[in-house]
Amino acid sequence: YSSEEQNILDAYEWSNKLFHHVLKHTKDGKDALNYVKNRGFSKDAIEEFQLGYSPYKDQFLSAFLKGKGFELENLAQYGLLNSRDGNSFFDRFQGRVIFPIHNHQGKVVGFGGRSIQDHLEPKYLNSPESKLFHKGKILYNFHRARKYFQKLNQVVLFEGYADVIKAYQAGVHHAVATMGTSLSETHAKILSHYVDEVIICYDGDAPGREASFKTAKIIKNAGMNARVANVPNEMDPDDFFEKHGPEAFQNLIQSAENDVSFSLQYIKKNYNLNIDHDRVQYVEKALDIIATVNQAVERDFYLNDLEEMFKLDRSTLLQEIENRRRIMQ
Ligand code: ATP
Ligand code: MN
Ligand code: MN
Ligand code: MN
Repeated sequence: YSSEEQNILDAYEWSNKLFHHVLKHTKDGKDALNYVKNRGFSKDAIEEFQLGYSPYKDQFLSAFLKGKGFELENLAQYGLLNSRDGNSFFDRFQGRVIFPIHNHQGKVVGFGGRSIQDHLEPKYLNSPESKLFHKGKILYNFHRARKYFQKLNQVVLFEGYADVIKAYQAGVHHAVATMGTSLSETHAKILSHYVDEVIICYDGDAPGREASFKTAKIIKNAGMNARVANVPNEMDPDDFFEKHGPEAFQNLIQSAENDVSFSLQYIKKNYNLNIDHDRVQYVEKALDIIATVNQAVERDFYLNDLEEMFKLDRSTLLQEIENRRRIMQ
């Protein structure tokens, strides 16, 4: 790290410690502590993930850091503080529960801030992109989760901070999350150095399923196997943990279906299978997906379903698969 970057890392570290202290031990943090407890975050998780709170005050962190001798202008450039016209500085994350974001070496390089009051928007405010914090390269919780990658040869991918923390509470330690963006090719490449399989455990809403479909492709293109957990409609993994508990949560992860089954099911929403034209279109698309499977036995398995569902001739299906695989070579 350059000396400027080291200075920023120090400031993030101090801020992290301060926010964590505020949450646990001060009157300013009392409502926030109630909030995190009511949401089901355990004492152990609050420690492990170093959750904090930034009081609803303009000059709380900024005064503290000024007292430590930091140049506030530098800190504003890295999104730790906000500035008015570049000369007065104030707290960026005020009124928010703090999720510290570590880089893959374990240094705090950003914060995610969750508003705990309805009127304070947006719901999540993250640190902006900087030389130290690239959302397209960093995965939340990577530095802790990496210790578990090798043993399981697998990683579980979530959308949100809360989902990762609840996974931890359920004993699922090999968990990471993107931070308000989709999984990038860079993310996928990094993961492919450690594991052969990614379990996608996104929110059970339409955007979550759409993202699962796209993310599965990115994972496969990076040479890994993808599976998709079946998170119930309109729930996210965090809600699921709260409703059903740790064992059901583990089961949700373990019973994730493979990406081909998921994709074949997912694309159905685009077709009205009562109409001949749509049935043909669906079969064509399904064949595109099945043709990407490298094991003949596995392809056979999906072709069985198609054959039965649409009363099709097996040799025609096999011919179509062969045509597609020839083009793919
Ligand atoms: P909640 O705290 O309400 O349970 P969540 O973790 O379920 O929130 P989602 O709305 O599902 O949050 O979003 C998933 C993730 O996307 C969040 O954890 C956060 O990292 C990111 N995110 C959500 N909203 C924003 C936003 N407005 N700006 C930046 N990032 C966001
Ligand atoms: Mn969501
Ligand atoms: Mn969510
Ligand atoms: Mn949620």
